[in-house]
Amino acid sequence: MPKRALADRSLQISLLSKRLHEILISDDFWRNIEFLTNERNIERLSEEDRIVVERLKKDVEKARKIPADFIERLSKAEALSYSAWEIAKKRSKFDIFLPHLKEIVELKREYCSYINLEGHIYNNLLDDYEEGMRYEKLKPAFEYLREKLSKLLDKLESEERINIKLSVRSQERLSHIILRYLGLKKDRFRIDLSEHPFTTRLSTFDVRITTRYLKENPLSSLFSTMHEAGHAIYELNLPKGKFRYTVISDAPSLGLHESQSRFWENIIGRSYSFWRFFYPILKKVEPRFEADIEDIYRYVNTIRRSLIRTEADEVSYNLHIVLRFEIETELIENRIEAKDLPEIWNEKMEEIIGIRPKSDREGILQDMHWSTGDFGYFPSYTIGNIYSAQQLYALRRDIEDMDSKVEHGDFNEIKDWLVRNIHRYGRMYTSEDIMKMCCGEGLNPQIFVRYLENKFLQRKFTI
Ligand code: MG
Repeated sequence: MPKRALADRSLQISLLSKRLHEILISDDFWRNIEFLTNERNIERLSEEDRIVVERLKKDVEKARKIPADFIERLSKAEALSYSAWEIAKKRSKFDIFLPHLKEIVELKREYCSYINLEGHIYNNLLDDYEEGMRYEKLKPAFEYLREKLSKLLDKLESEERINIKLSVRSQERLSHIILRYLGLKKDRFRIDLSEHPFTTRLSTFDVRITTRYLKENPLSSLFSTMHEAGHAIYELNLPKGKFRYTVISDAPSLGLHESQSRFWENIIGRSYSFWRFFYPILKKVEPRFEADIEDIYRYVNTIRRSLIRTEADEVSYNLHIVLRFEIETELIENRIEAKDLPEIWNEKMEEIIGIRPKSDREGILQDMHWSTGDFGYFPSYTIGNIYSAQQLYALRRDIEDMDSKVEHGDFNEIKDWLVRNIHRYGRMYTSEDIMKMCCGEGLNPQIFVRYLENKFLQRKFTI
């Protein structure tokens, strides 16, 4: 969008956000919800209507804690801060972003004071992305991951460089082929190009994803297509019918949503079974392709320390999240100051991952999340990774011969399982409850570590 219009756009966005919020928290709307949920009326509602109204009541109750003028101030600050971050990153100069970040942190602390949940102040932020999840539970889980994954990284780090080449045209064909195998049909779905891959839903019958084809990183397009396809399959199978256009027709948390993208990208896409199925297809698309199946398997599972989160492997990725979690919790507690962040980032990076960024661009400025006020968002990536490993073991329990299904590119039964056990509930339950129903327990980082150890140390895919 035109750069010069930024100030106008942020005014427009903040006005719209404020108006939306005013409607949501209006006394009129609230009186209707209370009327529907009073003792006499709630009995008379159908089961489905009751689920919707009760869910809506919870959302509105939370929204009513926040004054409309605050929403306006916050969204204006976020829009300006995002563009300052963009410039700061381009020039690798944290100072450009600093005053905005300070303001956002202040506003987020103010937000916490309105929501005012029990326990740690960070719970107020976490709850927006991962309803019901608490700092008190996450902290020990992340400490456990920090210890286990650092050790694993030391053991697995590889110096080997495998070279792989694929033309953009072949990359594009492979992306389209995998989408067909995953059952994403053109009557409800489309794929386009963008700088950063994402998924968006315009309705449950119109879900769109983007991908990108990089010459220097030839398989990254396949994995981002599979990642976004995982999000898309979830979106396409959210509750419809009576639940269409209601608060139920959505995912209960970002973590559960991310578990679906990671499931197809990592658990399936980086498995040996998958490459037994997909390698012949790749050879057909690009006959001159030189690497053999073993090379590819090692290539897509290379473990190496890196500075950039989005380029990290299955093991070290979560250490990048641990680092952000530690920093953002201390920031919101007011135990550290925004001005010291570049130094704190670099120190922690060295401590946790073992390398030190040479510039702010590769360090504190690499992600946009904090510039748009998304504090409490980062943990959902790792929560998604953990959930996806838990789902793998539940699938193995329920589906006979899962590996041979993957080896044959037959994903129907796996998809049906995910739809039946996760997607179709929408927001009727919390993620934790959905996980308990299909996997027998809530978040369990030990299962994730066991999955990684089995896969990387023993090349075993059972628990
Ligand atoms: Mg994602």
